[in-house]
Amino acid sequence: MTAILRVASTVAAIGLIAACGSHSTDAKPLSSTSAAPSSAVVTDAARSLAGLVVVLDPGHDGGNAAHMDVINTPVPDGRGRSKACNTTGTSTFAGYTEHAFNWDVANRVRAELEARGVQVVMTRHSDDGVGPCVNVRAQIGNDANAAAVVSIHADGNEKPNAHGFHVNYSSPPLNQSQATASPKLAVALRDSLEAAGYPPATYIGRDGLYPRADLAGLNLSTEPTALVECGNMHNSGDAAVLTSPDGRQRIADAITAGIVNYLSAG
Ligand SMILES: [Zn+2]
Repeated sequence: MTAILRVASTVAAIGLIAACGSHSTDAKPLSSTSAAPSSAVVTDAARSLAGLVVVLDPGHDGGNAAHMDVINTPVPDGRGRSKACNTTGTSTFAGYTEHAFNWDVANRVRAELEARGVQVVMTRHSDDGVGPCVNVRAQIGNDANAAAVVSIHADGNEKPNAHGFHVNYSSPPLNQSQATASPKLAVALRDSLEAAGYPPATYIGRDGLYPRADLAGLNLSTEPTALVECGNMHNSGDAAVLTSPDGRQRIADAITAGIVNYLSAG
């Protein structure tokens, strides 16, 4: 095995925020030129992944904004409280929506995983529907006995100089999978994105990882689960990458590499 997983350094939760928006700082944006395609290469392709199930969860949905009554419905958050069924997500200042980004990247990852024989289950099947609610998305992963569940998002931090990716997982853990497998999956995704040239977020989490208690989809999962915020749509440098088909492909390559490395590590 030559998997690149490495033990996560001590990670401190910085605070609890809602997904896709908040916090800040500054530094260089995602570079559209620094992501060397070769660095997204999977480090261990020897083990067959055929038959494994991976659930991909493209965040939000294109019909959410027109159905606020539905998506504002409270659902369990996994920690005894409730959350909104779903949210609209964010967008770039030019109007490129997060739900479209999530949908596009998830389908690129899906194609790459299926080419490796992985059985991919999607939590939604179009980009013009409503929901599903976050608890339903979690249940899809649980019902599939997924080897990995990866939610794909982009952030909408209010500080335009805040940039970079971060990978979220449920913490404190609510089950054994959240205690061990989910952090490993998060680290694998962090490592593959960083290896592909994407800088960790400057404004949230630590070293590209953000353990947190407030995301229902992560809390309700009983399978290895992580949520990738691929960049800040309100940062001009990140937005240039997120709105570019080439940028999205390179992000999908890196996410795929992270998933494959995690699965290959067994
Ligand atoms: Zn989102």
